[in-house]
Amino acid sequence: MKTIGYAAHSVEKDLEPYHFERRSIRENDVSIEILYSGVCHSDLHTIRGDWGEIEYPLIPGHEIVGRVIEVGSKVKKYKVGEHVAVGCMVDSCQSCDQCDHGEEQYCRNGITATYGSKDRIDGTTTQGGYSKHIVVREEFVLKVPEKLDLKTAAPILCAGITTFSPLKKWGIGKGSRVGVIGLGGLGHMGVKLAVALGAEVTVISRSDKKEEAAKAIGAKGILSSSNEEAMEKAQGSFDFILDTVPVKHDFNTYTPLLDVDGTLVLVGQIGPMEEPITAPLVFGRRRIAGSLIGGIAETQEVLDFCAEHSIAPECEIIPVEGINKAWENLASGNPAHRYVIDMSSLSLQ
Ligand code: NAP
Ligand code: ZN
Ligand code: ZN
Repeated sequence: MKTIGYAAHSVEKDLEPYHFERRSIRENDVSIEILYSGVCHSDLHTIRGDWGEIEYPLIPGHEIVGRVIEVGSKVKKYKVGEHVAVGCMVDSCQSCDQCDHGEEQYCRNGITATYGSKDRIDGTTTQGGYSKHIVVREEFVLKVPEKLDLKTAAPILCAGITTFSPLKKWGIGKGSRVGVIGLGGLGHMGVKLAVALGAEVTVISRSDKKEEAAKAIGAKGILSSSNEEAMEKAQGSFDFILDTVPVKHDFNTYTPLLDVDGTLVLVGQIGPMEEPITAPLVFGRRRIAGSLIGGIAETQEVLDFCAEHSIAPECEIIPVEGINKAWENLASGNPAHRYVIDMSSLSLQ
């Protein structure tokens, strides 16, 4: 199928319209017209080479909401016209122990990411959601619950699942004291989901500029990491901290904020960090852990959870031509929400 997307052609250049071909559907494939595509900081990291060299042209985007336009002969779960979603993975081996228990994100044989991976069958490079259409095998397609607003559902596919999965894994619920470092795309979903799970949530931000935004989504308040006195006072006051900071930073600033047995989970920065100071870990049995997105079943669970709890990501809807400006803003760390591209602004011509 001939289609169009917005691709990066090099690190330096802006994203530009790019005509390309999506594969013809295989018997277990679902062909989707993309309606909305969320803009994740991982898109920037990938295209700007933060995680290693990539092959250009590459179309980013792994928070996808759309409509089924065709299904393969063996597809059982989806029908033409239904609203569906695709997140960060489009395939995995489907036969290792991790895939078997629904944690495809940790597939022993590596996942096929929605963009920038090699298709397991034909070896072509996968292209992401800043595009008009996508073709994905049935097992990696999600249902969009009817109660969700299509316009704002897309960020659940990455920001939602990436924050939901560790919250569930660490048993966050009523009475949990949760800190979320960084009020951006992931952070704001972390706040909403933790609040819905019954936790008391504080945003830990570089300043108190985002206080109003934090309170508006249910946080108890904001702790400014640049306020030494407040940081000192907050020592030992969290059971769980979710660290969404996208760049190299000093997490030693945050570990003393954990109570005994508390855990700080890194979901942002991948790569070298400041040297850890072990005293707060040893003297309080505190832990530092990491977490990657979530499995397919859990991604469906978070979509359903958001529908049930009326959780909608805070979105600024932009036309596709606005993407380069949005990326500039995202790089600054200022937005306390998610940009979502309305793909109807991209015409096939
Ligand atoms: P984002 O919208 O840019 O939010 C990141 C937030 O971190 C900013 O809003 C800002 O919050 C804070 N921040 C930014 N620069 C900072 C700095 N220099 N020092 C301290 N804090 C800073 O990004 P996102 O889309 O939420 O993604 C966050 C990170 O998670 C990215 O690295 C992304 O690649 C990663 N990610 C990981 C997974 C996974 O599976 N583990 C999945 C998706 C994304 P304040 O203004 O409140 O300080
Ligand atoms: Zn993402
Ligand atoms: Zn596997």
